[in-house]
Amino acid sequence: MQINKVKGTYDVLPTESYRWHALEEKIHSILKLYNIKEMRTPIMEYSEVFHRQSELSDMVTKETYDFDDRGERRLTLRPEGTAGVIRSYVENKLYASQELEKVYYIGPNFRYERPQKGRYRQFYQFGVEAIGTVDPALDAEMIMLAYDFIKRLGLKGVSVKINSLGDDESRRAYQEALTKHFEPHHDTLCDDCKARLIKNPLRILDCKIDQKHEAVMHAPTPQDYLNEFSRAYFNQVLAHLNASQIKYQISPKLVRGLDYYSHTVFEIEADIEGFGAQNVLGGGGRYQKLVSELGGPELGGIGFACGMERLLLALDAENIELAKADQLDAYVIVMGEELRITGSKILFDLRQSNLIADMNYTKKAFKGQLKQALRLDAKYLIILGEEEFKKGVVGIKNTKTEIQEEVPLRNITMYIKENGEK
Ligand code: AMP
Repeated sequence: MQINKVKGTYDVLPTESYRWHALEEKIHSILKLYNIKEMRTPIMEYSEVFHRQSELSDMVTKETYDFDDRGERRLTLRPEGTAGVIRSYVENKLYASQELEKVYYIGPNFRYERPQKGRYRQFYQFGVEAIGTVDPALDAEMIMLAYDFIKRLGLKGVSVKINSLGDDESRRAYQEALTKHFEPHHDTLCDDCKARLIKNPLRILDCKIDQKHEAVMHAPTPQDYLNEFSRAYFNQVLAHLNASQIKYQISPKLVRGLDYYSHTVFEIEADIEGFGAQNVLGGGGRYQKLVSELGGPELGGIGFACGMERLLLALDAENIELAKADQLDAYVIVMGEELRITGSKILFDLRQSNLIADMNYTKKAFKGQLKQALRLDAKYLIILGEEEFKKGVVGIKNTKTEIQEEVPLRNITMYIKENGEK
């Protein structure tokens, strides 16, 4: 019986993986410019890392993959990258050696969502976290980095949507205003939102069921409740963005879907053919409580994440190729069973000289081997026949110019290297 992939997952086939490599290469090279190092954390964590009391987002309450391992420990497959990075930051006491720790990560996340185009149950994110300091310049740096990254991919119409939720005091004032605003509408809200009204009214704003509710559409915005400190902080962030001419828009309704944010929240968009509202490529914000909630000191951080499938879809839609699939330098065609040993020695020598090379292993006749070589788009064919073998030579054919020459066995790699792209 054939077993299919798990619903909401996908395979990266061998013909597609180079696109992932190219995107990952791009991430590594750009992050190097920002002096930020990669961090790798496990895909599973103890459930408490994500299931914290204050976290009421749908993602954490409804979409996580939770399970008991054989030792009856409660584990969760990570639904996002930040909490695991903070867990590691605290556990490894990274705050003790550095006032500010900046890291990036690339890896799979798991959410039990309704799968659709560009939305999966296992999906990859690339993200950045800057932990340890509260400084508007740092908020601006993260936004500039996200903006720069998307621009460097070659996407057009890149812009930032930004908002501020303010500090604790501002957030509290805003939450009270939201509660007051929604209370008269209690009976017409969905059941989840009725509970949210008591626990965290902010989450009503991104409810999928109530998004068209009158009261949601006309809810107060955080901007109206920023205290003086929070407003000054936000203005500083904007001043940094202005200085570097980053294209942004203040988006008063932007609150982001996680409960740990305060102060700056943002999203990066680009104009992508046929993407419509799906043009958000990444987002993030500042968090003030997360480090202490995970057992660390009272330190704030800021980060963002981009969905990598969505980035690849965007590049595809815009016909941007970050790289081409590797082309074979040479394909060895062997005409005769007894020459196969020589064929495999030639192949090994080619690879020793860092040439990309292959040959046929299914004992096809000449025509079949030729067809395969052309399908693989090999630059050179190395043809080893009885006659040639007796003379100690091979025929080397350039598939573009169709010029074929006889080359002594010992000079094969030299010939290909010297003729290169010709
Ligand atoms: P979030 O962590 O929800 O703020 O999402 C950040 C980015 O991750 C989004 O802009 C999407 O590109 C991507 N993303 C989130 N959820 C999924 C999913 N289920 N499948 C694919 N990409 C996702």
